[in-house]
Amino acid sequence: MKNTKAASAIAVLQNLPSVDELLRTPQAIAVAAEHGSQHAADIARRVIDNLRQDLRESGGKETECYSAAELLERAENRFVAEYDLNRASRIQRVINATGVMIHTNLGRAPLSEKCREAIISAAGYATVEYDLVSGTRGKRGSYAESLICEMTGAEAALIVNNCAAAALLILTVFAAGGEVVISRGELVEIGGDFRVPDVLSQSGATLREVGTTNRTKLADYEKAFSDQTRMLLKVHPSNYRIVGFSSSPTLSDLVALARSRGVILYEDAGSGALFDLSRFGIVGEPVISESIAAGVDLITFSGDKLLGACQAGIIVGKSALIEQIRRHSLYRALRVDKLAYAVLEAALASYRKGTAVEEIPVLRMLSMTKPQIAERADVFAKKLFGANVSVEIIDGKSVVGGGSAPDYHPETSLLALSHPGLSAERLEYALRNSTPPVIARIDEGKVLLDLRTVAEVEENELVEILKEL
Ligand SMILES: *Cc1c(COP(=O)(O)O)cnc(C)c1O
Repeated sequence: MKNTKAASAIAVLQNLPSVDELLRTPQAIAVAAEHGSQHAADIARRVIDNLRQDLRESGGKETECYSAAELLERAENRFVAEYDLNRASRIQRVINATGVMIHTNLGRAPLSEKCREAIISAAGYATVEYDLVSGTRGKRGSYAESLICEMTGAEAALIVNNCAAAALLILTVFAAGGEVVISRGELVEIGGDFRVPDVLSQSGATLREVGTTNRTKLADYEKAFSDQTRMLLKVHPSNYRIVGFSSSPTLSDLVALARSRGVILYEDAGSGALFDLSRFGIVGEPVISESIAAGVDLITFSGDKLLGACQAGIIVGKSALIEQIRRHSLYRALRVDKLAYAVLEAALASYRKGTAVEEIPVLRMLSMTKPQIAERADVFAKKLFGANVSVEIIDGKSVVGGGSAPDYHPETSLLALSHPGLSAERLEYALRNSTPPVIARIDEGKVLLDLRTVAEVEENELVEILKEL
């Protein structure tokens, strides 16, 4: 019996198409035309190998009936599946209907129209380190830096890859081999893999923890000083809040202490805001100009959180210190490219002009009121008349995200979808696999869409996707 099966497996293996035969199928020809014959051949070889393996392993059990034509069809289907799987992991535009404004998995802040135009215009040759007036080498990033100084009141600024890079750079330049004093309440992990103690040890600095998780007094900092102390570090806990019985010295107290002991005060503001966002409900996020005015020596913040631009780490502070960082060899490894400068310049120009709230998507989303979103949801729902999905408008909450303002959840109006033929999970899956993919969330058996994070220009596209379900 066993032998017969093995024999039939061998027989069926003879029907297996060759790689060349598979490459002559319409699907493979289409893939080769778009991505090159090498890529198509690689997939085809993998598919045929796997199919051969499967036929051998099944020992002829269910495969006896496979003709050459059937195996070719199977191979072609697998080819398509393999190709789709491989392509799904590429970067593609998605519609973010989650209501999470700074969505780290979806690229944090979406860029303004002006930032997008700036990328296109800087995409070719651009004046990254070229001075048009003198016709000689210019200073890298000088315009973006001057805009940052204008918006924060800082003496100088420097732009690097991200806020983690900025922290690593500062600690390496000023604290390697020495001690950094920090409150136990600020030894936090932010957004997955930024851990303050790890960045500190990477830089070669030694941590001097003071106080307790919930309370740290100025006297605790004072007691921790030694002749090894190089720096006082204040970290904004971002996605983490200690509430209730808690306290820490004011920024001015820390400034005075650092000055009297001749050490640097560095504040990692994380998200940081260029102006007070409390009118949008965001309180407790450091305003960079206020920290500068308080006399903090160095401050770092991210480019793609509340600022609303691209991934970048922005360092502001005293010019003598910033110039020292600029000269350090690690800066060369952490600097940004022309596209980042172009985006930051365009975003900062909106702030300078006073049009940031209208132009920068993250700020525009924050400024939307629940009645405004409810009205959009209402108009949107009417456009779905006659579609298979039915929609109900319910109350809900949006999320700032990106570790910013974790305890602020602005009220919103949600579109709750249901479909006669699809469970919530299947519906969410279908949306996620549409073109472009729509990212939604499921709550209590309903698929929820929050228009706060959907751009107005994406609405019609979203209507069409929903109608096709
Ligand atoms: C988000 C955050 C970081 C990391 O910023 P990236 O730009 O993602 O590197 C560092 N410190 C604080 C306080 C943060 O909130």
